[in-house]
Amino acid sequence: MSLEDSIEEFRYKGTDIGLCPFAKLINKLNEVDKKALFNAIEKSLPDITLANALRKEGYKIAEISIAQHRKGICRCKNNA
Ligand SMILES: [Zn+2]
Repeated sequence: MSLEDSIEEFRYKGTDIGLCPFAKLINKLNEVDKKALFNAIEKSLPDITLANALRKEGYKIAEISIAQHRKGICRCKNNA
């Protein structure tokens, strides 16, 4: 592993501290997927729809994690 990779790894870990599972997942998405997800949230699609779509794409996320983040009662909001 190069120094560049290590810096990226720790930079990522550093920003991840205190984030809820859904926020962590958002950080991992590429720009296209992130945009699609934010569009879905803007349209107020149900949590289960987002969870099912994300799981189909191979992400491990619980519906409850999405619900808590959207309601602002997740871990990352508490630390903000
Ligand atoms: Zn959150």
